Amino acid sequence: MIPVAIAEATILDLVSPLSPEKASEPIGLDRADGRILATAIASPLDFPHWDNSAMDGYAVRYADVASASAEQPVSLAIVEEIPAGRPPARAIGPGQAARILTGSMMPEGADTIVIQENTTRQGDRVDILAAPEPQAFVRHRASFLSAGQPLLAAGTVLNAPEIAILAAAQCPQVTVYRRPRVAILSTGDELVPPDRPLKPGQIVDSNQFGLAALIRQAGGEPLPLGIVPDHPEALRVMIAGALSHADIVLSSGGVSVGDYDYVDRILTELGATLHIRAVAIKPGKPLTVATFSSPSPTLYFGLPGNPVSALVSFWRFVAPALRKLAGQAAPWGSPWVSARSRHDLRAGGQRETYLWGKLLAAPTGLEFALAGGSHSSGNLINLASTNALAKVPVGTTQVAAGSAVAVMMLAPPRSRE
Ligand code: AMP
Ligand code: MG
Repeated sequence: MIPVAIAEATILDLVSPLSPEKASEPIGLDRADGRILATAIASPLDFPHWDNSAMDGYAVRYADVASASAEQPVSLAIVEEIPAGRPPARAIGPGQAARILTGSMMPEGADTIVIQENTTRQGDRVDILAAPEPQAFVRHRASFLSAGQPLLAAGTVLNAPEIAILAAAQCPQVTVYRRPRVAILSTGDELVPPDRPLKPGQIVDSNQFGLAALIRQAGGEPLPLGIVPDHPEALRVMIAGALSHADIVLSSGGVSVGDYDYVDRILTELGATLHIRAVAIKPGKPLTVATFSSPSPTLYFGLPGNPVSALVSFWRFVAPALRKLAGQAAPWGSPWVSARSRHDLRAGGQRETYLWGKLLAAPTGLEFALAGGSHSSGNLINLASTNALAKVPVGTTQVAAGSAVAVMMLAPPRSRE
């Protein structure tokens, strides 16, 4: 059994990101949500594109209005109105002003905006009632970013702000990494699909579905390969087939030391290098991590069969590897926070123990509420509606209610209940 931190580092070391040249594809911005940029983007434009007004008001020459006050207003001739989207037609000379609206281009000659609240208008003249600061409310060309400067780095996950930025920069199509393909196979003679009536002793293959959802959430494309019986030859054929299609292969079950646990033996026979066989974690001790170099570089995770163990192993070890493979910039792991535990947390002290529950955002800080019911690796039921895993380290057998505990966030914290 190796410590969790060593297992995590070993796994990340085994992963190389997909090739930005060979494993990328063009995509339109309307479909780019959640994708990962494969090439850096330099801005083709200045931001703002030209000097413009930040307010509704009048574009003036500062020198004309430097002494303006309510008692001694400065009167200027209005020579033009500049609505948004129309370039100014003339320059502003001494004693002149242009009516200007938010976002409109500054006219030549003007250097300052007087907000409309500090003016009174009479026909084609305007009285300036207060002296502005020099260059007030002018957004200068390229003051946010100059053309040619880096806009977005390779490895950036494209969410709403990045997609809006790319649209503004007139990049309607970008190059993103293809989604890593992750094969899923479930091993066990007892397993049946969810639509099959259960005979005594049978168990529904829930891992196939839970893992597929997690793969999608982490940016991968799941390839569900179904159920394989506990039969060495069937397993060999299935794993060999998966290797030719997938960047990562996940199997669940069959990695313990039971009489029907064949996975490690078959991996070795197929030419894999085994890096990890067990980790000091609860749930999830039996974890096989192997690599294949042919037919193409593939990372293999033999996850434990117990449904909670399979999901916890994914969150802790597979998701970071998948994010790194997908080309995402570091960090790859789920975020950790410190929270006040609402309940006593108990552990055996021998293995790093993960307890599931709800991370709650209270006005006084984050709180962790342990899920009720059995914390058994076979009990999937009380995992529903949880969003976090609290960690009890090796050597600790109890975290008392009210004390701080390290919590891995699986989803954003909820409001306090
Ligand atoms: P194993 O690791 O194969 O010994 O399986 C451990 C436990 O997990 C057994 O109770 C299995 O029935 C259960 N199990 C294995 N695979 C799955 C699966 N795909 N979905 C749900 N439960 C499973
Ligand atoms: Mg089994």
